[in-house]
Amino acid sequence: MSETFVIVGGDAAGMSAASKAKREDPDLEVVVFEKGEWVSYGACGLPYYVKGEIQSLEDLVSVTPEEFREERDIDLRTGHEVTEIDPDAKTVTAVSEGSTLEQAYDYLLIATGAAAVTPPIDGVDLEGVYTLGSMSDGKELREYVARARSNESFQQPDRGPACQYLEDCSGPVGIVGGGYIGIEMAEALAANDFEVHLFQRGERVLNGFSEATSEAVAEHLREQDVALSVGSEVVEVAGSERVEEVVTEDDRVPVEMVLLGTGVRPRTNLAKDAGLECGETGAIATDAYCETTVSDVYAAGDCAEATHTVTGEPAYVPLALTANRHGRAVGQTVAGRPTDGGDITGTAAVKAFDLEAARTGILDHERATEAGFDPITKTINANSRAGYYPEDGTVTVTLTADLETGRVIGASLVSEYGEGAVHRSHALVATLEEDATVFDLENYDLAYAPPFNTTWDPVLVAAKVLA
Ligand code: FAD
Repeated sequence: MSETFVIVGGDAAGMSAASKAKREDPDLEVVVFEKGEWVSYGACGLPYYVKGEIQSLEDLVSVTPEEFREERDIDLRTGHEVTEIDPDAKTVTAVSEGSTLEQAYDYLLIATGAAAVTPPIDGVDLEGVYTLGSMSDGKELREYVARARSNESFQQPDRGPACQYLEDCSGPVGIVGGGYIGIEMAEALAANDFEVHLFQRGERVLNGFSEATSEAVAEHLREQDVALSVGSEVVEVAGSERVEEVVTEDDRVPVEMVLLGTGVRPRTNLAKDAGLECGETGAIATDAYCETTVSDVYAAGDCAEATHTVTGEPAYVPLALTANRHGRAVGQTVAGRPTDGGDITGTAAVKAFDLEAARTGILDHERATEAGFDPITKTINANSRAGYYPEDGTVTVTLTADLETGRVIGASLVSEYGEGAVHRSHALVATLEEDATVFDLENYDLAYAPPFNTTWDPVLVAAKVLA
């Protein structure tokens, strides 16, 4: 009799696992429960959908439910929420439109992702307060933008900086949180002519990047007329029915809409209730094969921890490639070919208006010291193309290395959009993956041609400065 692989959650991790398992072992019965209507969607594209660069939500879907069912022979059940896992009986309970069903499994993957965090302050349930964690959030935000733009008062050419026309959906907007979603949404809303106020609790935006990157992005946001308040904790969202103000410790800013970009939290309830262990990060603890503390139960993607390449410790960095990669590895393992999901370096990229930035590894000295390193950091600015080439720009590279061994442990880069900060970060990821030192890196045989870089690419310049 064929075995059954049950998956909870139908996005990056879940559908990668389902597709891979079925491809490797067509006899395996693969059942996916997804509580929503969307599967295999690219949440990463949502800011650009809200901006209007991507026309329809369907464009964000890579494989449709029909394709999964008809072409990949996967038993995909949308609109089914799994409410319980019984690891002893090896069953899950799912609810759909009021009816309950039980499904037996031989192998189970929890791929429930993460939920947008709502900060514990007054007013977050007012009308006009949004998060951006799901396709339906994206739809609501796009509808908000469309409504606002069609509002007559919004179209007034002399709409002042304080947005005097405070009618429904036409005024300034507040973004709480200066992480990558907050910044991408600042761009999306500014491109739609909103007056954008961005509130960041900490002293700098893009906290996980280097200070040099954060400073460059903050300066650029201000150049783009984003009213950026750093060190500015939002203590309340105020209004009678609709949101009217963002209240910080020392200011009250009138707004007509608020986007909360205050991070995500792994969805672990099902796992915890079933007795699975979570790690110190709060996400589901897994081994190298993404197996949880209960055998035959796996967890992958934004709900799970992964091992950090540099520290060797469990880490929680919820990003799309990890979800796809770990989901795929679980699919392969369950189909009979045990596959290590691989470590993570925490590599991330963001576009901030006309800048691009990337980071990888450990840049925070406190964290590096805790992990046993003696960190040293240097930042350089270098030309992105040959000086004589007509369109040259600048790339800022920050490298962090261990003083004793020279091992590269972190990097952060920023440049004008198109000048290569993000693509250059890939070489640095390779140094992290290979435990390479700055002495290795300065001898990397990188490509050179005037339209792309200088003879010594900025990455090599940074390595030479640290070596
Ligand atoms: P999810 O995509 O969260 O999917 C989990 C699924 O499980 C959901 O569909 C949910 O409905 C379902 N589910 C949950 N509980 C149950 C249940 N009990 N029963 C049934 N179904 C359930 N990452 C990057 O690497 N780069 C980016 O540029 C980037 N940009 C992003 C921008 C935005 C606005 C957002 C929101 C995320 C972005 N991410 C980005 C993160 C990336 O989208 C996630 O890392 C990725 O989607 C994680 O995939 P996942 O399958 O683990 O979880």
